[in-house]
Amino acid sequence: ALPVLAVVGRPNVGKSTLVNRILGRREAVVADKPGVTRDRVSYPAEWAGRRFMLVDTGGWEVDVAGIESKVAEQAEVAISLADAVVFVVDATVGATATDERVVELLRRSGKPVVLCANKVDGASGEADAAYLWALGLGEPHAVSALHGRGTGDLLDAAVKAL
Ligand code: GDP
Ligand code: MG
Repeated sequence: ALPVLAVVGRPNVGKSTLVNRILGRREAVVADKPGVTRDRVSYPAEWAGRRFMLVDTGGWEVDVAGIESKVAEQAEVAISLADAVVFVVDATVGATATDERVVELLRRSGKPVVLCANKVDGASGEADAAYLWALGLGEPHAVSALHGRGTGDLLDAAVKAL
């Protein structure tokens, strides 16, 4: 079976946009309203000659009470099924309490993690990404899933971790 790379993070940070960018086509559902992705959707993908299954996650409603636990629950399942994880944070928002919970799960899992600081659309956003070193997950890869900025470096790191 192919190794599994899971894309995990809060609703609306740009996971599905990143998945589409990696696939080179619009397959994962992106919406202005978060919560549209089913629990887990897998796509065959390839980077640098390495084939793997790319897993988009979601499937929770942001409006419901206890969103934090719901995100953590979903993330835990996806992490357990993955060989490596791309953890996506919205660099324009920073790390929230929900992000911190997922970080804890990632640490406990012992799985390799590549930190994606998304929505860095221009050079002025680089500073937003730098403070994410504080999460203790290694280098924050500044990315714009929307424009494609930084996704090559992110993928290089991700396939190395698989
Ligand atoms: P998900 O809930 O984590 O899957 O997030 P989506 O991929 O559905 O994206 C949520 C919103 O963020 C959409 O409006 C996207 O267009 C937007 N978005 C995603 N990536 C970027 C990015 O790199 N830059 C900016 N400015 N917006 C982004
Ligand atoms: Mg999504």
